[in-house]
Amino acid sequence: DFPLHLGLTEAGMGSKGIVASSAALAVLLQEGIGDTIRISLTPEPGAPREKEVIVAQELLQTMGLRAFTPLVTACPGCGRTTSTFFQELAARIQSWLREQMPQWRQQYPGVETLNVAVMGCVVNGPGESKLADIGISLPGTGEVPVCPVYVDGEKTVTLKGEGIADEFQRIVADYVASRYGEGGPKRRKIVPIQPA
Ligand code: SF4
Repeated sequence: DFPLHLGLTEAGMGSKGIVASSAALAVLLQEGIGDTIRISLTPEPGAPREKEVIVAQELLQTMGLRAFTPLVTACPGCGRTTSTFFQELAARIQSWLREQMPQWRQQYPGVETLNVAVMGCVVNGPGESKLADIGISLPGTGEVPVCPVYVDGEKTVTLKGEGIADEFQRIVADYVASRYGEGGPKRRKIVPIQPA
């Protein structure tokens, strides 16, 4: 027996290479085919190759096959959004979560399944926030400048004013410590997709 390795060679650069690789591999993975994968992306001149690893991990995690790092669910924004703050917060939280993983992986077993939502308005944001482990909805056009936070599907606090990003980051850090730390409740688990 040998492991069956999947990869799309010469996939290309940027979004073209990511989409082509995901389309090619997902249909096989969904059928339970493949033991190892490689995403082959042509990097920008001088750019590191770590994007290949990140895309491979995110593909497996998005399909529910294996988790590697907490992921941020974020909305695209629309006519309801008035600023780039929700985009900045989503990017900040995602990169901060990724930076914590070398330590968290040892300290908090299972933390890689954490799901955080950062949404752009309080009309549709709370719905997605309730499905995440922790979610925040930022005020959209014409909405009161407050940010409801949901933890395990329940509204726990409303953030406002300066320092929303710092406060939300602290809430996430406290949640991780209480849920995944020694003796923590570990309330939710990722449910792997069963191959057809
Ligand atoms: S959550 Fe709100 S801001 Fe984001 S895309 Fe949906 S309606 Fe627009």
